[in-house]
Amino acid sequence: MSTIFDCRCGDKIGGLFPELDVPSQGVEQLIDPQLVRTRPPRLPDLSEPQVARHYTTLSKLNFGVDDGFYPLGSCTMKYNPKLNEDVASLPGFAGLHPRSDVARSQGALQLLFELTGFLRNIAGMADVSLQPVAGAHGEMSGMFLFKKYFEARGESNRKRILLPDTAHGTNPASAALAGFSVTEIPSDQVGMIDLKVLEEALDETVAGMMLTVPNTLGIFEANILQVTEKVHAAGGLCYFDGANLNSFLGQARPGDMGADVFHFNLHKTMSTPHGGGGPGAGPIAVSDLLSDYLPVPRIIQENGIYGLDWDHPDSMGSIHSFYGNFLVVVKAFAYILQLGDEGLRAVSENAVLNANYLQERLKRTYPLPYDGLCKHEFVLSGEGIADGITTLDIAKRLIDYGVHPPTVYFPLTVREALMIEPTETENKDTLDQFAEIMETIAAEAKKNPQLLHEAPRNAPVRRLDQTQAAKNPVLTYPFDEKPE
Ligand SMILES: *Cc1c(COP(=O)(O)O)cnc(C)c1O
Repeated sequence: MSTIFDCRCGDKIGGLFPELDVPSQGVEQLIDPQLVRTRPPRLPDLSEPQVARHYTTLSKLNFGVDDGFYPLGSCTMKYNPKLNEDVASLPGFAGLHPRSDVARSQGALQLLFELTGFLRNIAGMADVSLQPVAGAHGEMSGMFLFKKYFEARGESNRKRILLPDTAHGTNPASAALAGFSVTEIPSDQVGMIDLKVLEEALDETVAGMMLTVPNTLGIFEANILQVTEKVHAAGGLCYFDGANLNSFLGQARPGDMGADVFHFNLHKTMSTPHGGGGPGAGPIAVSDLLSDYLPVPRIIQENGIYGLDWDHPDSMGSIHSFYGNFLVVVKAFAYILQLGDEGLRAVSENAVLNANYLQERLKRTYPLPYDGLCKHEFVLSGEGIADGITTLDIAKRLIDYGVHPPTVYFPLTVREALMIEPTETENKDTLDQFAEIMETIAAEAKKNPQLLHEAPRNAPVRRLDQTQAAKNPVLTYPFDEKPE
């Protein structure tokens, strides 16, 4: 057995695994014989210092929120308080085995139960499930709740979901996954839903509407109450994509605006680290109409004892193993306790203030197609800054100045879009520095466009083939020799 746990491969020792601290006797019988290793794994022949240097070098090539300003629109790349990490690494949370029995998991269950209550109050809605592990996962779950609801009512003819053209890209994908077709609703000239167009689209084939709140232009639908009333009057349901809740946290509640499902992105709003694909948490809040269909198990409390309740025959079932990404949820819980009601309200006040401050300064230099009060973000255009200069050039040049570029070429309703979300955790100095850099780049574009075309110059890599990088990532160690 010992060769299986040794990282020695060739002459060098890259590291040693700790001794096995659980009984190994009998483990072989539990594993399918076909899966048991007969030879040691192929590992690169490297010494421990080489391994340490490799990973340290890699870590320095990365750019994160703790390196610098990261105004990636819609992604809420704000500072994540380190306290959250301390709380999530408490041994009682971090070391809890997912198969521990309920009696030994009371503290964890209490945390889940209490967080469910906090989120229910924040959303102003009837019930919450913490199970989805991403925003898009929450959306998909919500769409399956819609489906269950209409099946139960015998209205399987409702097959269409209405989506404004300013919706987040995951929304149509989620609707499609649950078997709905999507009808796009074009926005009016101020970037909001055109009520007339909406009315014309509503009929008995519509299951409901998905609204990104605020929309991807950073604009809050002024007529949101009329929109949800019209959808409900036509027999449909309303889904609110709340990934960008930092724009109205503590100011307004989706439940009061007519939402039937609302998803949180805890890894955005509640400040847990994200990027690179996970882990995240995308809890859903639902109105009375849908609570019977929520995922199981549900967390319950009786006489001070917490438990898992599987007894919901109409439930959509489980949508993730155990109860989702527990430690992400712990960080969100710590964040909410740390800030309290007043602190949570200050989050949205500052997110909106910062975005409007930057918008007002930058619109002097860059076109702002939808001008007006924004929420947490705004969308500039890189069009016409200088001959032959594109938004991609501007974004790449920002890297040379140590800033992460904004979201580019989205939303599609703005040409050469630059979608900027400063977030509430940045101070005025950082916003001013960023504005100066953007102004410098606009001047460079006119005087020395080559600087922009050749950017980035200071980054570890220049311009990648993004399609190849996404479709054919090289993730394994490049062995020279053939396997034995
Ligand atoms: C980030 C985001 C999502 C998707 O969230 P994931 O956790 O990445 O799946 C959905 N909608 C909006 C508006 C977002 O900003």
